[in-house]
Amino acid sequence: MTSVSPAAERFPTLLSPLAIGPVTVRNRIVSTGHATRLADDQRAGPRLRAYHRARAAGGVGLIVTEASFITTEGSYSGAQLVNTDDSIIPSLTALADEVHAEGAALFGQLLHLGLEQSHRLDGTRVAAPGPSPVDSERYHTTGRAMSVDEIHDVTEAFAAAADRVRRAGLDGVEVAASHGYLLAQFLSPEINRRTDEYGGSFDRRLRFLVEVLQAVRTRIGHGLALGLRISGDEHTTDGLDGDLAVEVCRAVGALEADGRPLLDYVNVPIGSSRQIAGAVHIVSPMSTDLAISVPIAERISAEIDQPVLAVGRINHPALAEQVLASGAAQLVGMTRALIVDPEMPAKTAAGEVDEIRQCIACNQACIDRFHRGHGISCIQHPETGRETGLGIRRPTSAPKRVLVVGGGPAGMKAACVAAERGHTVTLVERDRSLGGQVRLAERLPRRSEFGGIIPNFEHELARAGVEVRLGVAADRSLIEVCEPDVVIVATGATVRPPMGELAEARVVDAWQVLRDEVEVGPNVLVADARCDWIGIGVAEHLAIERLGGRRRSVTLASTGHIAGETLPRYVRDLALGELHRLEVTQIPLVRLFGADADTVYLQHMASGLPVIVEQIDTVVVCQGHTAVDELAHELDGLVLGGRAVDVHVIGDARAPRTVEEATLEALEVASAI
Ligand SMILES: Cc1cc2nc3c(=O)[nH]c(=O)nc-3n(C[C@H](O)[C@H](O)[C@H](O)COP(=O)(O)OP(=O)(O)OC[C@H]3O[C@@H](n4cnc5c(N)ncnc54)[C@H](O)[C@@H]3O)c2cc1C
Ligand code: SF4
Repeated sequence: MTSVSPAAERFPTLLSPLAIGPVTVRNRIVSTGHATRLADDQRAGPRLRAYHRARAAGGVGLIVTEASFITTEGSYSGAQLVNTDDSIIPSLTALADEVHAEGAALFGQLLHLGLEQSHRLDGTRVAAPGPSPVDSERYHTTGRAMSVDEIHDVTEAFAAAADRVRRAGLDGVEVAASHGYLLAQFLSPEINRRTDEYGGSFDRRLRFLVEVLQAVRTRIGHGLALGLRISGDEHTTDGLDGDLAVEVCRAVGALEADGRPLLDYVNVPIGSSRQIAGAVHIVSPMSTDLAISVPIAERISAEIDQPVLAVGRINHPALAEQVLASGAAQLVGMTRALIVDPEMPAKTAAGEVDEIRQCIACNQACIDRFHRGHGISCIQHPETGRETGLGIRRPTSAPKRVLVVGGGPAGMKAACVAAERGHTVTLVERDRSLGGQVRLAERLPRRSEFGGIIPNFEHELARAGVEVRLGVAADRSLIEVCEPDVVIVATGATVRPPMGELAEARVVDAWQVLRDEVEVGPNVLVADARCDWIGIGVAEHLAIERLGGRRRSVTLASTGHIAGETLPRYVRDLALGELHRLEVTQIPLVRLFGADADTVYLQHMASGLPVIVEQIDTVVVCQGHTAVDELAHELDGLVLGGRAVDVHVIGDARAPRTVEEATLEALEVASAI
């Protein structure tokens, strides 16, 4: 009699295999196609291969490669995959071999951006091709209508690229008609204004997509799986809504090729590149719903026989199991859950669910690094994207006593890594709880999930065997008593006091507001010199809070071109929408000059002219942070027992920034001890 493991009992559907056409995946967990900027020279080089191999080794069932571009149009960086000739095949074969060696299946995603592109590899603007000459609201490009010959050429380019995927040894092909890109543009009656055989009626608008799918199937045969990625709702004014997406899926789901289904699965995200309200759902931030595409995936699933893949903030195996058990979908995309913890599937299977590092949907080091032009990583797991270097945990051959001072993200990460390498690690934190500034960050509106960093690290600290001492403020004498070989100073930062001509005004800082330590009047100006989460979040917090049943009047004056300028764009855009809803007045490009009892004096950063805001009773300053680095200075040149003590300063104690740098510096230092 075979015994059933407790994990299999708890996650019976999630951990069960599934046939996707000719391919059987070992479980239902999918790393969906996502841009990484880890490719080298538009090929799957060592970094991209190591990235995917880590997820395959961690137990994922299926990996879909990031979109590879099937024409040189849309190719805007060397760090993306471009599948336009056979030179990509050897690198895809190497990727497939590595992923297969770890037991996962690998599909290749194919994409044409159509109207949704701004520049080419050489930096010049694209004459963006689409069904009709429609502008891109997001990229401010002017589109041009494709000729029928061009449509046929692109169809052939999809087929040829699919054939290369087949020859490279991958298990399937996914055609992307999602997120408002070329194939979706043809489906939309608003964007597709053609009057020829590719526009007008539903069937004619569908024609391009069907011809592409048929051409791809002809080339790959039925030995590979063929999938379609389509947004279940683009959330735009001119794209696919739920009804149209269902109609398209019903139509293509029913098609056959050689007496067998044309399609083997449908992948259903939501959102669109074309407009901000849709774009935020390409990678939904923490303020959006969990499992966000599931309702529309369920509708599509009810209409077709093929498995449906639901995505969007499915961040935990328990939630994934719930989605699958309900029958809403048969596969779950857990891409960010795998970016932050590549071993999530293996931990699930081993019944170690509490050990899973959970994604908090901050969007910072994954999609925002991509947007900033860098390879993706994770603020909680900076090993991601660095699998060939810092991601390798090398056990120490000379164990040392390591004292980490400070239990914020930097200290917690450093302690974990040092202990995992075999050092004896003690972490001292002067507060009664771990977390540092994260405890304040989670108080901002719609950002409570940010606090998830703390339990994630608490589990890691326990597993790594770090001794944690809370309520202990370290100074030089404590360190002399402890006699460590290495001290890692991660004492963080504190709020910068208000600066400017402010003596006569009522001035408070952001930390005081978030800690509820001060009274803020009904007419407030938030002076934001950082353009990060704090100014925008404090403005929202004050605008939501009611005084005597009435809303405050809030003005947000920032040094950016827009408030929240430095934030991940989807996070910022959702916040800007919220501020607009709350009627917060925004003044961009101004610095705080001074204030008196009821007037604030700003200076425009471009014109240099004064900007005066009257009838303000409280100024909230968000002027950034100052490093807490006294201990670091005290330890300069420390010698104990005749030996110089190795002292490292990391995170905000070095210079106040973000969790991304705090954990990365922790990893760098703790990997080198
Ligand atoms: C309101 C707010 C919102 C933010 N939002 C974000 C965000 O969304 N994303 C992001 O990436 N970053 C955000 N940040 C910044 C981020 O929190 C910090 O960059 C990060 O916490 C720095 O980590 P750290 O470990 O270096 O320092 P800290 O988090 O400051 O931790 C330092 C720790 O050291 C302890 N300590 C200090 N001196 C001693 C001593 N002598 N002995 C023992 N312990 C000591 C402190 O008590 C503290 O717990 C935000 C910050 C704030 C204030
Ligand atoms: S950076 Fe944030 S959103 Fe991205 S994977 Fe890590 S925790 Fe999740």
